[in-house]
Amino acid sequence: MKYDTSLLHGNFSGDRNTGATLIPIYQTSAFGQDSAEQIEKIFHNQAAGFAYTRINNPTVASFENRITYLEGGIASVATSSGMAAIAAAFLNILSSGDEVISKSSVFGGTLDLFKDLENLGIKVRYVEDITKEVLEGLVNNRTKAVFAETIGNPKLDVTDIKEAAEIIHSYNLPFILDNTTATTYLVRGIDLGADIIINSASKYINGSSNSISGIITDSGNYAWSLEKYPIMKDYIRLGRLAFTAKLRSDTFRNLGCCLSPMNAYYNALGLETLSLRMERHCTNALKLAESLDGKEGIREIAYPLLQSNPYYAIAKKQFKDKGGGIFTLRLYTKERAFAFINQLKYAINITNIGDTKTLVIHPASTIYAHSNEEEQEKAGVYEDLIRVSVGIEDIEDLMEDFHQALTYVNENFK
Ligand SMILES: *Cc1c(COP(=O)(O)O)cnc(C)c1O
Repeated sequence: MKYDTSLLHGNFSGDRNTGATLIPIYQTSAFGQDSAEQIEKIFHNQAAGFAYTRINNPTVASFENRITYLEGGIASVATSSGMAAIAAAFLNILSSGDEVISKSSVFGGTLDLFKDLENLGIKVRYVEDITKEVLEGLVNNRTKAVFAETIGNPKLDVTDIKEAAEIIHSYNLPFILDNTTATTYLVRGIDLGADIIINSASKYINGSSNSISGIITDSGNYAWSLEKYPIMKDYIRLGRLAFTAKLRSDTFRNLGCCLSPMNAYYNALGLETLSLRMERHCTNALKLAESLDGKEGIREIAYPLLQSNPYYAIAKKQFKDKGGGIFTLRLYTKERAFAFINQLKYAINITNIGDTKTLVIHPASTIYAHSNEEEQEKAGVYEDLIRVSVGIEDIEDLMEDFHQALTYVNENFK
């Protein structure tokens, strides 16, 4: 099955009971069983079935199965948000005293979460890039995982997944990869060696910004050992399923960060057109970025598929000539950046990415408001930077809009 077909048919065959072509929305909190014996079996994972929507639900399970297929993993757990997915994935394997290595370019919300983890005695060590030299100086026997984003949001640095996975695995550590900004349309992290994949499904998967949600996909490839992860003691015997089994029956279930059936339905619906949308997001972003590149009044423009970009070679290779739907612009001053945003006609000034509509934001004053200047710089956030999530509008309209805003700013702000 090729990729576009798999978005529609991978691990999905509609509803067998009724012939419905979409998964029904099982909008119910709990599921009655025929006998006390049966519900006992379900609670002990000895029978398939559903008990309570906080643990699992047929609509949610259908969405999970489809993502598992697309990512090439063995199982997925859908969550109430992308942040819940990241929190649950880490809490599933970490204990007080443990350490994590993370790229410093990760999403602002994730940086905030890492501060919360520090309060629980979990140390996060930041790196600009995942190299042998850098890890050599940081990995110790308390290190439990390495984390990165495929395309850092908003630094737009591209992680060479294959190379990073090889380095991380040489230390026998799991590689947790947030693939939100790329999606399986650009790259399948598991194929290149990532062990756990995180997606904020609120973004491109859902596609039209109607639901907040996240999903964790387990490759089943990392060998969890009791020695390194005593917290997983009850699950290690399950081998390849250890991570997901602990997540489902323990961490995720107890945190209570389940996805609502309605939102799982919206995500499944969005997923079916992911490829069509991503194709347009990518071509629009490239054309718009190219048209602005080198123009007067722009200090810098970052898009992985611009030839001047430091990540051009890896983006071209890893994403097969695609660059994703996001670019950033630096306009010299905060005042000019604000004026540019205010002058745009179509682009919505909003904290989000991956919508069908073009979205812009000034990250320094919003998403990174809780980070200090040094943290901001490491994350690629500057006072004059605007992040643009390019939508699927007609490119002529977008070009006209962005160029008139630039002209206005150049004429009115020095
Ligand atoms: C948005 C985002 C998240 C958080 O997802 P929510 O669904 O908003 O909780 C995590 N990682 C990346 C890269 C994101 O863009």
